[in-house]
Amino acid sequence: MDAHPIYDLRSDTVTRPTPAMRAAMLAAEVDDAAYGDDPVVCALEAEVAALLGKPAAIWVPTGTMANQIGVAVHTRRGDTLACVPGAHVRIHEDASAAALWGVQAMPIGDRRGFTVHALAALLDEVACGWPPIGLVWLENTLGEAGGAIWPLTGCHDGRDGLSEVAAFARAQGCAVHLDGARLWNAHVATGIGMDRWAQAGDTVSVSLSKGLGAPAGSLLAGSTEIIARARRLAHGLGGAMRQAPAMLAAAGRYALAHHIDRLADDHRRARRLAAGIADLPHWDVPEPETNLICCRVRAPIERAELLCVALRAAGIRCNPNIAREVRLAVHLDLDDTAIDAVIERVHHTLGSDPGRFAPITS
Ligand SMILES: *Cc1c(COP(=O)(O)O)cnc(C)c1O
Repeated sequence: MDAHPIYDLRSDTVTRPTPAMRAAMLAAEVDDAAYGDDPVVCALEAEVAALLGKPAAIWVPTGTMANQIGVAVHTRRGDTLACVPGAHVRIHEDASAAALWGVQAMPIGDRRGFTVHALAALLDEVACGWPPIGLVWLENTLGEAGGAIWPLTGCHDGRDGLSEVAAFARAQGCAVHLDGARLWNAHVATGIGMDRWAQAGDTVSVSLSKGLGAPAGSLLAGSTEIIARARRLAHGLGGAMRQAPAMLAAAGRYALAHHIDRLADDHRRARRLAAGIADLPHWDVPEPETNLICCRVRAPIERAELLCVALRAAGIRCNPNIAREVRLAVHLDLDDTAIDAVIERVHHTLGSDPGRFAPITS
């Protein structure tokens, strides 16, 4: 046993495949996935399509590729897509919607979602000469909002439900994509089926390498025609990975069978971690809805990075979410003992002389 282990809370992507998952990967029958007849990849695609209630799905190496294909299949050069300001596609994909497809992101609402009214107001401006909205972009859970769940129905503090927004968007002739990299977390936290959430999107992307703990892989689901186009786009983007997808798909199938329900443990541990560090000075710790905790720093801590440096020195790897928020991600590789140790180290770090968090001025 490592006497002073380092706890990695940077993201839920940092998990390592478990021994049982590695065994499933090793045992996978492999073939050339680019020819489309790899049995394990085909089985995973069929499984996820069925889970999401869509006719077809394609495995791709990353969520970013799934999302970028989602942009490409619904838009034309010079279109825009409407999304929340902190959407992954807008702030964490290196402006690829613009760089690859000539599509500009139009932020509406706030970090926790938007209303039908806000979308209608944007569409009104299109009628006055603003560029066309080819695509309405939804995300659940909302990463930049600390894993907040965008509810499926009803009006909730400044946003409408995903299903109402989607129905309105379609009635206006817009396509809808749901970035569901962490849709599993929304499903487990609410008990609402993956297929019901997925109804909101004409296409839906889901990740196997976040909370589910696979080393790589995402799927894009949608109609048979759209997924046929997606296969050509994935190939063109360099996604034809030959014998590798079979092993990664085996990890994905293992994760679907064993790592969905246990997300409830991550959510419980995230709440316990938040409760254990909420009474410390110099930051505001929200009650997490799922597995992410985004803590807003206060004076004298000017920037989240200053606190992250101190936490890293104490053996807690973490990063800023935004400039003034520290993000702590709870995942498969953190058990109750680890959470206790993290709480203790955070106390030790934040409880000490706050002056050391002040930026160095000369
Ligand atoms: C992680 C994530 C992605 C991208 O997934 P990668 O596999 O890291 O490319 C897309 N959307 C959301 C909401 C994410 O959290």
